[in-house]
Amino acid sequence: MNDCLFCKIIAGEIPSTKIYEDDKIFIFADIAPTAPVHWLAIPKTHIASLKEVTADNSEVIAHIYEVAAKLAAEHDEFKDGFRVVTNCGESAGQSVFHLHFHILAGRAFAWPAG
Ligand code: AMP
Ligand code: ZN
Repeated sequence: MNDCLFCKIIAGEIPSTKIYEDDKIFIFADIAPTAPVHWLAIPKTHIASLKEVTADNSEVIAHIYEVAAKLAAEHDEFKDGFRVVTNCGESAGQSVFHLHFHILAGRAFAWPAG
């Protein structure tokens, strides 16, 4: 998807601070962090949002959570708790339409969400 910001980040056309990469997913630092740790985990295949997830492409989401758990175990900021969240659609706050999971750690998080 040529015009997608996150596809361009995966392709290296737009710089990012890489945290993790494998053949299926890319994890990088959010440009406007809202917590001491604020990463974005994205599938390398363009999926616009959670609305586009089906039995054919959902495997990558399990993989993102598996890698998030591994990274959480490796980083001290996650030891007291952390949050993984995806915003789906404009009213939920989605601003980039390439499926992404915010991985947040290093402070307490309020609930319910605002
Ligand atoms: P959302 O609002 O849930 O769609 O999240 C999009 C996130 O992408 C926001 O937290 C932005 O700060 C982040 N973001 C936008 N552009 C970039 C960029 N070039 N590099 C890293 N993060 C970005
Ligand atoms: Zn994309």
